[in-house]
Amino acid sequence: MSLVGIGYDCHRLAAGRRLVIGGVEIPSDVGLVGHSDADVLAHAVTDALLGAAGLGDIGEHFPDTDERWRDADSIALLSQVVELLDARSLRPLNIDCTVIAEAPRLAPYRGAIRARLAQAVGLAPARVSVKATTAEGMGFIGRGEGVGALAVASVEEISRLSGDGSRLPGDGPRGGDG
Ligand code: MG
Repeated sequence: MSLVGIGYDCHRLAAGRRLVIGGVEIPSDVGLVGHSDADVLAHAVTDALLGAAGLGDIGEHFPDTDERWRDADSIALLSQVVELLDARSLRPLNIDCTVIAEAPRLAPYRGAIRARLAQAVGLAPARVSVKATTAEGMGFIGRGEGVGALAVASVEEISRLSGDGSRLPGDGPRGGDG
């Protein structure tokens, strides 16, 4: 059985911040503003995985009021969510995402972003699709005020049955850590 989830995020652009998208730092005069590293794409992918698993959203797991997540590496948070899924016998199947940014052009970085996301979630790069588009000059993205990202993720149940049909350690009934 597979399950799907969606994720959406946007962050404001400002001078004096790093521009990190999908775990890849992109040279730019402006960067994304947020409590963590503000990696808008990693956040959208994280929410898509949490959504597929029915586990709430990124803000519940990593609240921006918590000092632990200040300047956090969002790729590390994404990997933590994959572990959370694993504890519930779920693993990512594929991810498809789109970054919406007026500038800089993301095409030269798409391969690196794909590889970084794939590594973070434990998938082959072929199972991670990264697309980029602009807002054609319209709205907050078009004016260069921010960057948006959308993601869809599917996850599947991991079979942890051993050969004789008995359950393996770690595949107990769900529950425990919430
Ligand atoms: Mg965010």
